[in-house]
Amino acid sequence: MLVRVRFAPSPTGFVHIGGLRTALYNYLFARKNDGKYILRIEDTDRERYVEGAIEGMLKSMAWTGIEHDEGVVLDGERLSQKGDFGPYIQSQRLDIYQKHIKTLLESGDAYYCFCSKERLDKIREEQKAEGLTTGYDGHCRDISKEEVQKRLEAGEQYVIRLKFPKGKDIRFNDIIRGEVVMNTDDLDDQVLIKSDGFPTYHFAVVVDDHLMKITHIIRGEEWLSSTPKHVYLYKAFGWEIPQYVHLPNILNRDHKKLSKRHGDVAVEDFLNKGYLPEGLVNYIALVGWSPEDNQEIFSMEELEKQFSLERVSKSGGVFDVDKLNWVNGHYIRESSVERITDLAIPYLVEAGYITEIDAKEKYEWLKDLVSVLQERISYIAEIKDKAAIFFRTEIELKDDESKELIRAEHLPQLLDVFKAKIEETETINEDFGKRVFKEIQKETGIKGPNLFKPIRVVLTGESHGPDLPLVMKVLGRQKILNRIEYIKRLLDD
Ligand code: GLU
Repeated sequence: MLVRVRFAPSPTGFVHIGGLRTALYNYLFARKNDGKYILRIEDTDRERYVEGAIEGMLKSMAWTGIEHDEGVVLDGERLSQKGDFGPYIQSQRLDIYQKHIKTLLESGDAYYCFCSKERLDKIREEQKAEGLTTGYDGHCRDISKEEVQKRLEAGEQYVIRLKFPKGKDIRFNDIIRGEVVMNTDDLDDQVLIKSDGFPTYHFAVVVDDHLMKITHIIRGEEWLSSTPKHVYLYKAFGWEIPQYVHLPNILNRDHKKLSKRHGDVAVEDFLNKGYLPEGLVNYIALVGWSPEDNQEIFSMEELEKQFSLERVSKSGGVFDVDKLNWVNGHYIRESSVERITDLAIPYLVEAGYITEIDAKEKYEWLKDLVSVLQERISYIAEIKDKAAIFFRTEIELKDDESKELIRAEHLPQLLDVFKAKIEETETINEDFGKRVFKEIQKETGIKGPNLFKPIRVVLTGESHGPDLPLVMKVLGRQKILNRIEYIKRLLDD
């Protein structure tokens, strides 16, 4: 059996981090089993239609590197589709749903319902008042064929509902959760075709998964309670039921479902902050899945080899930004300076530190700047803050330790010698940085922390930070002299 799985987002406008994980696990499962991974767009809810949403989501997915074998793809800015089981956009499959609903109407597994919205609202209110669970009361279940025909001819509005038998258990197996049972008495006669002629998600998903030969349905646990309806539909059609896998929710630190209210949840948010795709993907793989050993850094190839559904946990995985930052920081450090520089430029422009022209003209200098900070950022946007020390005209003494350090008794002497050394030299390269401290130590006897710490404060305003010779190289002669002058004035006041 050829494994075929799918990620089936609705075009809401962004890919939620939970959706990313669903996509990733589907993709990994397909790769591991030499199967196919499909991306289908579920856009049957016309009220939630968002212009440009599909394109945006596909762009996010392309950025993550989770590539699908079949489905909707972007061809430049245009939507296109690949694969033999299309169309892969549900709104382009309406005739297919119409054909299949006929089968269910004929077998008596579905029926026309003419109830008006007013009537449905009214029974709902009554049920509420009586403290009953709300739901459809089956009013149209037994309308005769002739009457249905008459009402259709009269042009009455209708929906088509699934006709659940009374008191029947529906069972299915979930690879993560084991057997799940639900009784039809706890289920509403689900609408399959809406009054606008569009299918509901529940109907379209079953028809499409069957026709697209999906073998494993791997999706978020919010769909678990819908699955009995789907299983019933498979049975009504006489189709083989796929394997189900419901992934645990992604939770925030308070163990609540991760939502927009708790900060970033869209793949785009992370892209905009300058996370690296391999960092986000690596981290998200670990939210809900654990490898056999304690390995934490995984390339996509390693994930493809090691991933298994057996090691997906039943309980929710907690989304831990600190851990994400740690993983992403690892990939930033591993990247070439050129890659990080290219990614950093837009943030430096946005911060007003450089112009687009500087970005070209001072590229080599920018690379030096980035190499100083590359070790110290978890995502690229952080460079705006961290780079500030190189662009400010005046430094700002950040902490008490810094303020104390520049009041040290030996500071005036140290500053004079340091200033003289800088004035004597033409260019400040890393070698100069290394040499100058040795010379100062020799000449003045000032050494170790007494030497480096105050100089660091003079140059950056901070008592801790990147390698000093590098900092000096990036600052350059004039800025160093300005900063010495600034501190001198400060001490004189
Ligand atoms: N369209 C559904 C969603 O947006 C997909 C549910 C499923 O995978 O069956 O989450």
